[in-house]
Amino acid sequence: MLRIRFALARLLVHSFQFVPQAFAGLVMEKRFQRRIEDFVCLHCGRAVSGNGFTNHCPACLWSRHVDVNPGDRAAECGGAMRPVGHETVRGRTMILHRCETCGFERRNQLAKDDDMAALIRLAGETAGQRVRGR
Ligand SMILES: [Zn+2]
Ligand SMILES: [Zn+2]
Repeated sequence: MLRIRFALARLLVHSFQFVPQAFAGLVMEKRFQRRIEDFVCLHCGRAVSGNGFTNHCPACLWSRHVDVNPGDRAAECGGAMRPVGHETVRGRTMILHRCETCGFERRNQLAKDDDMAALIRLAGETAGQRVRGR
């Protein structure tokens, strides 16, 4: 009987050890915040309806400098972000955006409703240019 109680106590201690890890997981997840919002493109004026992951205009691929971490909308800059290049990382196409106001750079994943013609134009414009900050 004593042995069973001992085993139970050990089990309890064991399960409590996982609690801090669960909290750490929650904090990590907070770094990406999904926001569903509509915006008007600073570059071409297109009204874009957000799906929660939209961070650039699907027509001209320009973005806006609003995030410090993805989705947090903590940047005060608000400048227009020009698409300056693209690259493929582990099979996913990423667009490199550079803020026209402050020079901040960020990679954003290409969305499936993005205009492929705009991407091809971007590829043509940036062909032969080395993308900084690899
Ligand atoms: Zn646009
Ligand atoms: Zn900026």
